[in-house]
Amino acid sequence: MSAPLHDLGVAELARRLKTKEVSAEETAKHFLARGQAHASLGAYLATDEAVTLAQARAADARIAGGDTAPLLGVPIAHKDVFVTKDFPSTAGSKMLEGYRSPFDATVVRKLAEAGAVTLGKLNCDEFAMGSSNENSAYAPVKNPWDTSRIPGGSSGGSAVAVAARLVPAATGTDTGGSIRQPASFCGITGIKPTYGRASRYGMIAYASSLDQAGPMARSAQDCALLLSALCGPDPDRDSTSLDLPAEDFTRELDGPIAGLRIGVPKEFFGAGLADDVRAAIDAALKQYQQLGARLVEISLPRTELAIPVYYIIAPAEASSNLSRFDGVKFGHRAKQHGDLLDMYRKTRAEGFGDEVKARIMIGTYVLSHGYYDAYYLQAQKIRRMIADDFQNAFKDCDVIAGPVAPTVAWKLGEHASDPVADYLADIFTLPGSLAGLPGMSIPVGFGAAGMPVGLQLIGNYFKEGQLLNAAHRFQQATDFHLRKPEGF
Ligand code: GLN
Repeated sequence: MSAPLHDLGVAELARRLKTKEVSAEETAKHFLARGQAHASLGAYLATDEAVTLAQARAADARIAGGDTAPLLGVPIAHKDVFVTKDFPSTAGSKMLEGYRSPFDATVVRKLAEAGAVTLGKLNCDEFAMGSSNENSAYAPVKNPWDTSRIPGGSSGGSAVAVAARLVPAATGTDTGGSIRQPASFCGITGIKPTYGRASRYGMIAYASSLDQAGPMARSAQDCALLLSALCGPDPDRDSTSLDLPAEDFTRELDGPIAGLRIGVPKEFFGAGLADDVRAAIDAALKQYQQLGARLVEISLPRTELAIPVYYIIAPAEASSNLSRFDGVKFGHRAKQHGDLLDMYRKTRAEGFGDEVKARIMIGTYVLSHGYYDAYYLQAQKIRRMIADDFQNAFKDCDVIAGPVAPTVAWKLGEHASDPVADYLADIFTLPGSLAGLPGMSIPVGFGAAGMPVGLQLIGNYFKEGQLLNAAHRFQQATDFHLRKPEGF
């Protein structure tokens, strides 16, 4: 008996669609039904069967016409940070409840051009601020490996949808780890490309100098397919998108990794790293040695500083970006209000959640006169040093490997009385984000309570192909990426 549709990866599904073994409409219906059957996970914020089926039928027509676009008929879903004209776009915030964008984000448009069919919009932390998805204004998302645990954040809905086989792949965004960390916590694969590879047009902004889009799927091969479709310059719409032609990231997948120098940063293996995570990471590194890679000890001496630096820069940029939500142009407007100033005040008090408000206040503070030099400017200087540390390390290695997070996914509500605990858990993803480097997470084992553990791979600028190659070779030799939570 052949595997059910939802167990197929993007590559295999695309092949069956192309050869008409299965239609895009049938495929879309299958996945929509799965989404409904597992609605209690909280992964979706919006679905629209009519829209999805219309897209699927259009894909079937393209297939019938001989179109060879790479993702024709493949269902995907988007983190609700990407604006879409056919679905509401909320960024997980009440501020944008019911908001309809007049256009599609570039990433959404490019994936649609490649033939992907949109199943809906996925839950996330409000304005992508968080590490547990508990900051969503709508519903917490549950980790399918243990529904009493968080899925990670902020792209928690994306990670859960892929892990629970509600969709073969999803988009995510990563500002300080939001693709890599939920991928790690849910046992899937995700890649954040070099800053600027993917257009930020239509990605609701959190911290513009850090925000980057990327795919989340079950394997490196599937991520490579999606990444190839969603990257590319967008000079008219995002001036920070890199002027590099779109690449075929599947090209390097099968290359040999014998002799690959894997840098292991000693700062990623300190006292804060949980034993179960350490054991899984050590085993993965051994596996790489068996595949012919060489481990090299390296140092990223400013790793700890990445936390204060990021939590100054990101809120600073957020406070500026979120000033556009004033009740005039977008989304929520307070019903009862006095003059204009009162309208702004009430709208923002009602529309934003606590974490977002906290960050707006921190950001405004560090940018204010008298504190700008002491905090913001200082943080920018250390940011540069962190980026330099990576360049120093890349003299001795090709790829850097270590944990994604210090622990496995924690329990829902576990950090409720200690919000800083969430910030500290970002320690291993923030340095690469501040440097703008590509990074990914691949499942490499299970820790306490059977929860997945991800290995982080960080590459030098524009080396996504090399990262995906290293990940793919690991996945050819192991089956962690094929395991799925019980009952799914
Ligand atoms: N956890 C980090 C934050 O809360 C990263 C979020 C992200 O990458 N979007 O800011």
